[in-house]
Amino acid sequence: MSQESLDSDPEPHAASDADSFDSLFLGSEEGTAAYRDAIEQAVDVVANTLGESESPYAGASPEAIEAQLSSFDCLPESGAGLDETLDHVSEEILAETIRVAHSACGAHLHCPPMIPGLAAEVLLTAANQSLDSWDQSGAATILEQQMVDTLAETFGYGADADGVFTSGGTQSNFMGLLLARNKVADERFDHWVTDDGLPPEADRLRILCSADAHFTAKQSAAQLGLGENAVVTVETDDEHRMCTDALDETLETLDAEGLVPFALVATAGTTDFGSIDPLPELAARAHEHDLWFHVDAAYGGALAFSDTHREKLAAIECADSIAVDFHKLFYQPISCGAFLLQDGANYQYIQRHAAYLNPESDDEAGVPNLVSKSVQTTRRFDALKPYMTFRALGRQRLAEVIDSTLELASETAASLRERDRFTCPHSPTLNAVVFRYIPEHTPSDADSDQYTGAINEQIRDTLLNDGRAVVARTEVDGVASLKFTLLNPRTTLADIESLLDDIEQVGRELESSAVEAQT
Ligand SMILES: *Cc1c(COP(=O)(O)O)cnc(C)c1O
Repeated sequence: MSQESLDSDPEPHAASDADSFDSLFLGSEEGTAAYRDAIEQAVDVVANTLGESESPYAGASPEAIEAQLSSFDCLPESGAGLDETLDHVSEEILAETIRVAHSACGAHLHCPPMIPGLAAEVLLTAANQSLDSWDQSGAATILEQQMVDTLAETFGYGADADGVFTSGGTQSNFMGLLLARNKVADERFDHWVTDDGLPPEADRLRILCSADAHFTAKQSAAQLGLGENAVVTVETDDEHRMCTDALDETLETLDAEGLVPFALVATAGTTDFGSIDPLPELAARAHEHDLWFHVDAAYGGALAFSDTHREKLAAIECADSIAVDFHKLFYQPISCGAFLLQDGANYQYIQRHAAYLNPESDDEAGVPNLVSKSVQTTRRFDALKPYMTFRALGRQRLAEVIDSTLELASETAASLRERDRFTCPHSPTLNAVVFRYIPEHTPSDADSDQYTGAINEQIRDTLLNDGRAVVARTEVDGVASLKFTLLNPRTTLADIESLLDDIEQVGRELESSAVEAQT
């Protein structure tokens, strides 16, 4: 019966007492059997399609996939049944996705998810707890708080710290700047933003970050009603870290102009280069100038777990707030991040009570309703993923995984430097490696940088279109470049060497066809 009622029924019939919905939900013997069957089949689909892939992408273009998918009926009048639906999804959709576990998939901060995290995902989706209120979550709320406490301690915070799990760095960065804005309005202008909106002085408020900071600093400023122009970017050095001298000059200039800098965003792991701003110097400047110090450690936060590399995050404990992502260097399934706050009392700046969710009487009675710590309402039990991963592996094993990718990145940079046809303009701090293929001959009438950039762009497109490799592109000093984000701990130096051979060959082929096209 369980399977039958999920499968299509050609005879339309009216609902009756006999026509139960049991097989659609957990809650009965029938539902449990249907669940078991569905998940076992889903596991088979994962094993067969995503288990061991020959290439990182099938290579289809957006147009080809659009044509293929255009015949799908996204809302059929009668259902096809789950068996048929799983086959369909496996063959026509999953088959055309990016294989994150493949060693030649190295474009973005997009990790192969770790098995304990995947197991946790099965549990947390079935439990379907919502972390906004105690009465929707029970132990899930307490576990999340314990995870927040553990993370706060790992980053060197004291007993006043607090925080919450988030959808990722975007939300965590937004929250840091949201609290910072509301606090400066209260302290400097005696203005309560959550009641009265922006103060009249708002157009003088400024946020500082480096020129290499993530775009979400500007995005947040726009969303906070300050506008992107409220973000002042400070120049970076050769290794893409914020220049402290330039910061000092900027602060002086802003002061002379009567502007009000209120937040300093440091990046611990820039998206392109993985560089880490000089946190001790920036912490000192923030303290001296009374700036909210937010560290965007979405990428580099994982180093706090590493004995070898945690020194690179020295002074992160001085941050008023920290963004850390678990769906990057912690190998958790998307989405999973955390926002950490050095002094939980600052949550007063976004406090609100909803009678149905977190009445003030609950606060008085000590009932934890985490909605008051988040900008989300309904919220997943994502904390279970890192919890299960940490518990299953232990910190040391996790650190080994993280360290191995940083080592591969240094080896990759060394290999690039040994090769004549490549340049690598930085020493990797994390596991991002930016590089460029250098053309053998630049046509006499071509601008060398432009030609180099164009060839590198074409290399990236060719590899993706052939399904050979997913490599990132970025710009360095205005010239298009290539980038590996070596997040996959299973990738070996031999994999990278062969990928570089491939890139070199594609580069040579593109060059010779460019020459042919000219003649
Ligand atoms: C990934 C990233 C973000 C954005 O985080 P999401 O998890 O994608 O929302 C912000 N800052 C940095 C440095 C990042 O690496």
